[in-house]
Amino acid sequence: MMRSVEIVDVGPRDGLQMEPGVMPTAAKVEFIERLVAAGLRRLEVASFVNPKKVPQMADAEQVLAGLSRRADAHYIGLVLNRRGFDRALAAGCNEVGMAVVASDTFNRRNQGVGTDESIDAWLDIAQSARAAGIRAQVTVSAAFGCPFEGEIAVERVVDVVRRCAAAEPFEIAIADTIGVGVPTQVTEVVAAVRKVLPPTTMLRAHFHNTRNTGLANAYAALQAGVSTLDASTGGIGGCPFAPAATGNIPTEDLVYMLERGGIATGIDLDALIATGKWLQETLGRPVPGMLVKAGNFPRPKASQAA
Ligand code: ZN
Repeated sequence: MMRSVEIVDVGPRDGLQMEPGVMPTAAKVEFIERLVAAGLRRLEVASFVNPKKVPQMADAEQVLAGLSRRADAHYIGLVLNRRGFDRALAAGCNEVGMAVVASDTFNRRNQGVGTDESIDAWLDIAQSARAAGIRAQVTVSAAFGCPFEGEIAVERVVDVVRRCAAAEPFEIAIADTIGVGVPTQVTEVVAAVRKVLPPTTMLRAHFHNTRNTGLANAYAALQAGVSTLDASTGGIGGCPFAPAATGNIPTEDLVYMLERGGIATGIDLDALIATGKWLQETLGRPVPGMLVKAGNFPRPKASQAA
């Protein structure tokens, strides 16, 4: 087991995307700045997709323009095609993330083209990102199950990863987009996928807590050799195919589990809990994360005295 883990906070994009109300640009900027102040150095800050389909992300350029940027932080824009890549680059993203769905049906529903076409688009984007001097990574979505096709064979996930890996990106992720995975499955998929990764490509994992297996899956992924985990502060983020479900694994719950077990994250947990509280006030409803309710342990000295 590693001594430190990198966490990517996907709250400002994956987390907010399913929110019914559009968060004002200034609040999104504050959200991101709070996360950076808490120690996050990789953040999924916006998606560059059709604003008619995702109104919450219509101000992607304005969010990027509003950030007081740190030189050592990566501000990730999600892109699904060439047009999105060009927008993310122009907006000043220093990393882009592309998504390719392991299930062809899901890829068509989500992106309007089949998995093969999305892989081709990814290979093109990876080359353009290299030429432009920014980082590019790809997430293989629905790697643990699909709302349309059901079970996804491990061989299928491995095949999609292998074809995406032809671009030799610095990182590839596997995602449980609909939150159906269990730890034994994570162990199996991670082991199989690692065999086809180029030596310079790291593995990231993305879990949703839809069925309450998110943190267990995250721990299994680390034990299996994943170096980076996605999470969202407050655990926000819906799943379009499970309207009542909770979202991504909560960053603060993940940080608590890791730090108390001696695995460093570089993140100030109390600052993150405060951000979770700010987030639920801003959204006007409770967030799914548990640490926001239960608090840190041991308590910080100031609150012990109070
Ligand atoms: Zn997600």
